[in-house]
Amino acid sequence: MNPKELLKIANEFGTPVYVYDAESIKTQYEKLTSSFSKQTKFFYAAKALTNINILKYVKNLGASLDCVSINEVKLGLKAGFPKEQILFTPNCVDLAEIEEAMACGVHINIDNISILEQFGNKYGSSYPILVRINPHIFAGGNYKISTGHIDSKFGISIHQVRHIERVMKSTNLNVEGLHMHTGSEIKDPDVFLQALDIMLELSEHFPNLKYLDMGSGFKIPYQETEEETDVKTLGKKVEKVISEFSQSTGKKFELWFEPGKFLVGKSGYLLVKANVIKQTTATVFVGINSGFNHLIRPMFYDSYHVIENLSNPKGAERIYTVVGNICETDTFAWDRKLNEVREGDILVFRNAGAYGFEMSSNFNSRLKPAEVLFLDGKAHLIRRRDEFEDLLKNQIEVL
Ligand SMILES: *Cc1c(COP(=O)(O)O)cnc(C)c1O
Repeated sequence: MNPKELLKIANEFGTPVYVYDAESIKTQYEKLTSSFSKQTKFFYAAKALTNINILKYVKNLGASLDCVSINEVKLGLKAGFPKEQILFTPNCVDLAEIEEAMACGVHINIDNISILEQFGNKYGSSYPILVRINPHIFAGGNYKISTGHIDSKFGISIHQVRHIERVMKSTNLNVEGLHMHTGSEIKDPDVFLQALDIMLELSEHFPNLKYLDMGSGFKIPYQETEEETDVKTLGKKVEKVISEFSQSTGKKFELWFEPGKFLVGKSGYLLVKANVIKQTTATVFVGINSGFNHLIRPMFYDSYHVIENLSNPKGAERIYTVVGNICETDTFAWDRKLNEVREGDILVFRNAGAYGFEMSSNFNSRLKPAEVLFLDGKAHLIRRRDEFEDLLKNQIEVL
């Protein structure tokens, strides 16, 4: 989206506001579908951004949906995804939540032996499942978003395959799919191939296997110097491995992926206003009308977001530290070169579509921002800004 359109939205809807460019989501989706065979399925990882309009848009593109909570499953159904196109991949939930997902008829992915046993004892082969394996590959941009390593709570260790087999045998479980998600932001495409090799090797232990779910890890460039995961090359390499495997074994599996940020990350812009310019002895701070209550990635993951001054694009460049208005250290960026920022200027954080609004909170009793979808050249309000009353919504006054 161009700066003019963004400024218009800031004027019309106020700040802070998240803006999502539908066209960008479509472009990203088509990059994936054109890089892999037609049988490959892409389950959008809902947790990146769950606004119902985004879910509907992604569904209309042809994507399936990956959900990590029962409420995401319900949102997916409400958005119109058929149950066969929804995968439930929870972590550390009880059997009751899994049974709720069963009642919805969606695919279920189980990630620990305890639940696997409970499930098998109760349902045997009556409801097919997927099993999440932890391959113990370290991958991902940040320790917190790497899920496949040895200390990770996710998945069933690859060293416990014998144990899975025992549960399968004694409870008659029908395992139709294997799943691995080694982390977010995998720089090296060979990590995917390593995971695929492991999956194919494991497939011998699962006679009813139909699906191999490779999870996600597709990266988008947050810094100007970074590169997106090269899905074209990855697609070629993966297809080669799969077809060689099929030729030598006669087995065919459907390949699944679960991209979240790859689909929606680039589509998002967080528009904010510079409230205060504060010069201290060592630093020039720009204090904006937002904070980690709206975008926590920089503080939580040390993530980088490109920031630009939309209102003064020709201003002389100066070095700023951009901070929020929360009573906590909420630094968005240190020593960032921006066109001169004046109080009242509108700034944009780029690539804020994934894990932006979704991780927002009401910390400091501040209100969550509005969300706008830019579709076919028009800006649509898709979530109104919180109002003061929202802060009290579930509170019960007893005094
Ligand atoms: C978070 C998550 C994803 C999506 O990760 P991205 O880095 O946003 O692509 C996919 N699968 C599972 C199981 C996840 O938990």
